[in-house]
Amino acid sequence: MDERTPALELVRRVAQELGAPLAPEQERAFRRYAELLLEWNRRINLTGIDDWPTIERRLLAESIALLPLIDRACGGSAPCRLIDVGTGAGIPGIPLAIVRPSLAVTLLDATAKKVRFLELVTRELGLTGARPIHERAETLAHQPEHRGRYDVATARALAHLATALELTLPFLRVGGLAVFPKGPDVERELAESQRALEILGGELVATGLLPLAELIGTDSTVVTVRAVRPTPSQYPRRTGVPAKRPLR
Ligand code: SAH
Repeated sequence: MDERTPALELVRRVAQELGAPLAPEQERAFRRYAELLLEWNRRINLTGIDDWPTIERRLLAESIALLPLIDRACGGSAPCRLIDVGTGAGIPGIPLAIVRPSLAVTLLDATAKKVRFLELVTRELGLTGARPIHERAETLAHQPEHRGRYDVATARALAHLATALELTLPFLRVGGLAVFPKGPDVERELAESQRALEILGGELVATGLLPLAELIGTDSTVVTVRAVRPTPSQYPRRTGVPAKRPLR
């Protein structure tokens, strides 16, 4: 292990605290993922985060900390289906797939080179439950195989909440949960997203600090929304419109 290899102490502690202690092969998977992230980030722009302590804290630990919310969203569904919309380099989808191998994780991104990276990662890490898809949410959400078919949707750093709601809620079954990791100041965004919630059939469940925020040393928050009605069929609108003209 060279000095660039993450100690993974924080990831190990967070997983332990959440009642999901890591087996040796899961630790290896996290290490390999971090290595591949750094390696590929030198060639293609995958993430702005480029040092191992920050990868461990902001990308790995903060993703795993969503586990209690994901488990609640899954309820008794087996297998539980999760879609990570605008997953980029796989955040939070890949860390969640590593800690919960029973999850069926769809990793959706519109950028081809990121999806190629995800194909390599899922193959190398043996994440048989994870499936990368290169598509726009605006398109995939209208396909019967995906529309209304997920128990949980995540989206981190995808867009303004009003846009993110339009790109995630259509994937959920009624009763499913959308989970949005956010920065510290989320109140204004929430206020600006009330109309989107109403139109798309969502209901705010909770907003607050990320679970284990203190242990992780972060002020990140999470917004959780339940799909209470099927999303009207005209949403999401055509490519680019949800971002250009958010439902506000
Ligand atoms: N979730 C990751 C990446 C955030 S960057 C993280 O937290 O690090 C936002 C990503 O969303 C980019 O990779 C971009 O390609 C993707 N994206 C943006 N709009 C999209 C859309 N409409 N459908 C699918 N992916 C989209």
